Amino acid sequence: MSGDVLQVLAAGLASGSVRVVDLSQTLSPETVVIGLPEPFAPSAPFSIETLSRYDDKGPAWYWNNIALGEHTGTHFDAPIHWITGQGLPDNATDTIPAQKLMAPACVLNFTAECVVDPGFLLTVPHVEAWEAAHGRIPAGAWVLLRSGWSKRTGADFLNFGETGPQSPGPDVSCVRFLVEERDVAGFGTETVGTDAGAAHSFDPPFPCHGMMHGAGKFGLASLANLDQLPPTGAILITPPLKIAGGSGSPCRVLALIAG
Ligand code: MN
Repeated sequence: MSGDVLQVLAAGLASGSVRVVDLSQTLSPETVVIGLPEPFAPSAPFSIETLSRYDDKGPAWYWNNIALGEHTGTHFDAPIHWITGQGLPDNATDTIPAQKLMAPACVLNFTAECVVDPGFLLTVPHVEAWEAAHGRIPAGAWVLLRSGWSKRTGADFLNFGETGPQSPGPDVSCVRFLVEERDVAGFGTETVGTDAGAAHSFDPPFPCHGMMHGAGKFGLASLANLDQLPPTGAILITPPLKIAGGSGSPCRVLALIAG
């Protein structure tokens, strides 16, 4: 490909005809972390400790130590995150080819449905209805479920009820369709993880982890500002930290949009 496309991009960025949308939540000690039942190991919350701030410990500089689980806040799931993806090549944060960390996005807006039913399940007919309006999901594209969930805070974000967490996500058939029939890059969501809150009870359980990662696909969780994206046409930039053997990492997810 000629360099012209990059010159057009550079001109678009300079003029504002190409806009950069930040799809990331701010990381802080208040960032809600997924909760697992006993006996599973809990993920640590984000913590930050000042080393110096223009003071005795560093008169001219400010910096912090941070600690956090890999799957905290807006983050990327690598195939090695799930047992089904453990044997795949290039399956960890440091070995996924960089070329795969930029890809187009299809944004499926089911915000109204998720207001009525916080446990909304995305099905194949939902995807087919979206495709009838916006065109076929191309191979290698992200599928992002826009739910409005990023507006929730605190306990409402995990939304635990009597039967466990209630939050939207794809059902088993939908995940299989996206993997086998559409060959997507991965699935992204505004919720704490890519699977629906009720996915522990699915057959198989947690399909958006088991089937996506087993097929070498990725995940994006706790996305924000999906309401600023068009249904098609955005390009996502999703590089996880290059952690050796990492299962995922917090990620500053950016989207390029035209106009
Ligand atoms: Mn994750």
